[in-house]
Amino acid sequence: MLGEGGAGGSPGASAAAPVQLIDGQGRAITDLRISVTDRCNLRCVYCLPARGARFLAPGRLLSFGEIARLAAVAVGLGIRKLRLTGGEPLVRADLDRLVARLCAIPGVADVPLTTNGVLLAGQAEALYAAGARRLNISLDAVEAGAFQRMTRAPALRAVLVGIAAARRAGFRDIKLNMIPIRGQNEDQILPLARWAVDEGLHLRFIEYMPFGANPWSPEQMLSAKEVHRRLGEAFSLGPGRRASPSSPAVDHQVLGTGAYLGFIPSMTAPFCPNCSRLRLTADGRLRPCLHADTEIDVAAALRAGAPPERLRGLLRLAAASKPPGRVLAAPGKPPQQRRFMASVGG
Ligand code: SAM
Repeated sequence: MLGEGGAGGSPGASAAAPVQLIDGQGRAITDLRISVTDRCNLRCVYCLPARGARFLAPGRLLSFGEIARLAAVAVGLGIRKLRLTGGEPLVRADLDRLVARLCAIPGVADVPLTTNGVLLAGQAEALYAAGARRLNISLDAVEAGAFQRMTRAPALRAVLVGIAAARRAGFRDIKLNMIPIRGQNEDQILPLARWAVDEGLHLRFIEYMPFGANPWSPEQMLSAKEVHRRLGEAFSLGPGRRASPSSPAVDHQVLGTGAYLGFIPSMTAPFCPNCSRLRLTADGRLRPCLHADTEIDVAAALRAGAPPERLRGLLRLAAASKPPGRVLAAPGKPPQQRRFMASVGG
């Protein structure tokens, strides 16, 4: 899929380093999710508060050079995939330049992005030219009013135009992520699925997780099983399969079409035993687990000009600090995580 070459290099062209980040449970760490900013141009109800979110001062963000330096060391330890996320990654100026730098690291196989798509129309071509080949786009509704309720912004049209622009630019692997929430956008499950199937786009339903300060309650979460049952009213779904053992998603072909619908049952069947990820926050902290507050400061080392051996040590420490499984906040209890999802990089 990659290796067609972009201005930024040919991901996957060079031999990858053997995987050296193996955690205490024997899990091979091959993915680094990089949050390039904690800022976002939307205020999705499950992610950020309507008002009062506090963001990092610009000087606290890792520079592209710092991100690329750490990424190169990580790739030398066997990391293959460098996913860019946020916040909203496309609000960071000149993101295509970072994509190009990351794609040029020998041994990198994949530099996908997770985005809300609002700014995609203006950036799709540059991102593709820089070497990105895969996009995950959050889309919680396909009707304007429902979209605005979920994101608190009248931006559905911009996202749809962005998706079309990405396809024109050459992106063939585009996945849509929906978080179905009872009483909020559950009426969008079937319309969005019909639209995605008609468009030949791969839609996945993510179970709503308690995070940061969102108003999660168990009743609001629609399980993968429940959504599968509802989809069964409109589609015949084939058996579930995972794209790879470490993929959190279970995908089903919509029989009679080339389209897929999938589920990420993060609450009812967490994929911790197969987790292959580390996260890098926008202010340069390695987070071994999305759901735990343990963080390892790499910003200080990067800014002090630490040698690669020091950065390797911090990456190894992060891998060794991965908990066997996550612990979620109990309903009614204060959230486990100090940060919003936007600040960790979902
Ligand atoms: N701004 C980008 C976007 O909207 O895709 C990237 C950042 S966003 C935090 C990354 C992913 O996290 C999105 O797919 C979003 O739907 C998911 N997410 C955020 N809060 C969540 C929650 N409480 N439960 C489940 N997924 C969540």
